Amino acid sequence: MSKRASRHVSLPTTPNDSDEALSWRRAIERVLSGIGLRLASQPIVDIVHARVVGYELLARFSGPPEAPPDVWFRWAETFDMGAALDVRVVTIALAMRQHLPPDTFLTINIDPLHLNDVRLVETFAAAGSLERIVIELTEHSAIDDYDAMVELLKPLRAAGAKIAIDDAGSGYAGLRWLLALSPDLVKIDRALIDHVDDDEIKTALVEMLGAIAGRIDAWVLAEGVERASELDVLMRMGVPLVQGYLLARPSFDIWPTINVDALSSLALRSGSESTEPTLAHLVETVNKRREHAAVVQGMCVVVDELDQPLFLDIPESRGARVLALRPTETVRSAVERAMLRTPADRWQPIVCVNEVRQTLGIVRMERLIQSLVRENDGPSSGLAET
Ligand code: C2E
Ligand code: CA
Ligand code: CA
Repeated sequence: MSKRASRHVSLPTTPNDSDEALSWRRAIERVLSGIGLRLASQPIVDIVHARVVGYELLARFSGPPEAPPDVWFRWAETFDMGAALDVRVVTIALAMRQHLPPDTFLTINIDPLHLNDVRLVETFAAAGSLERIVIELTEHSAIDDYDAMVELLKPLRAAGAKIAIDDAGSGYAGLRWLLALSPDLVKIDRALIDHVDDDEIKTALVEMLGAIAGRIDAWVLAEGVERASELDVLMRMGVPLVQGYLLARPSFDIWPTINVDALSSLALRSGSESTEPTLAHLVETVNKRREHAAVVQGMCVVVDELDQPLFLDIPESRGARVLALRPTETVRSAVERAMLRTPADRWQPIVCVNEVRQTLGIVRMERLIQSLVRENDGPSSGLAET
């Protein structure tokens, strides 16, 4: 029997030789033989630019027995077939990746305790590049050895995978887990998003998770957004990514689109169809150096062998953390994200990167703020001239 507890369902308590357990075992063996598992996908939306940026893949099993996916995964675990089931999911996901629309990613749910399973390790290794794959990890139970987990993630990250912490703020995905893993994406649990618009404690918790994510340079995603008023509050709080029934349910369409009404109201509010200024016109060239090369005079960005920024070298603050943004990021959202950084880093320049995170240049905070002020002055100064 697995020692883990699921937040959705209680552990199967039936003995493993009961009729119920035997029918589950047969059902899971059938899935492992290649029958009865499909992956639905649910869009992940960048609400600043009103654009689908990725899709979470969610397992759908055809019964009997009829049950939600987490129940299937729990039963698989009791028969030690959980990792094998993850392998099936990863295999299907990698095939689906070939058809992904440009500039989008796929997220896959993986049990962190399976990361050292040799079949899973080999499946990931055989994929070669893991670009555009985000691995969602949920902490179902206390993890004793975070260092070991970080080690297991290294080859995946080196192959291009990004890491997401799933269900953050749920009580399972604790802060220690978040800081130890330094994920690229923090998915805030639906329980915190549900009625976040009329619950001050939830608002404060979402803000706190946003601040922590900013500190570790991770993106924040709000899960399970069902109501427009929740979306409004999240937008005002500067949460950049959203997923939920309001925008799209999980679906077998390749690839599902989002609710057109929700999309157009988003576009209107975010001004993505207007000419809202982006970082593109504020980027300045900057000196770059490799990590162990001699220190150069003035400001420079320390880069790795792929030209990706590691940290900032500024005379008054060596080793400042990098906030890396694309030139298409709007000035407004760049300011919001910059302000989520620690007080020490908050006023450091932003590093502008291309789609493969190579260093393009820097944007100084003073220029960013001047641009925001000009933008806000825009309509009134226009009126004054007429
Ligand atoms: P999760 O990873 O937290 O997945 C999000 C769940 O929330 C999904 O349920 C999704 O359909 C649902 N959801 C999305 N938006 C909304 C919303 O606006 N409102 C509500 N009420 N729900 C929403 P689903 O597909 O039933 O999956 C349940 C859980 O099963 C997942 O939770 C995950 O823990 C597990 N699971 C699903 N697929 C996989 C998989 O391929 N591998 C593994 N290891 N676990 C999986
Ligand atoms: Ca998930
Ligand atoms: Ca989740």
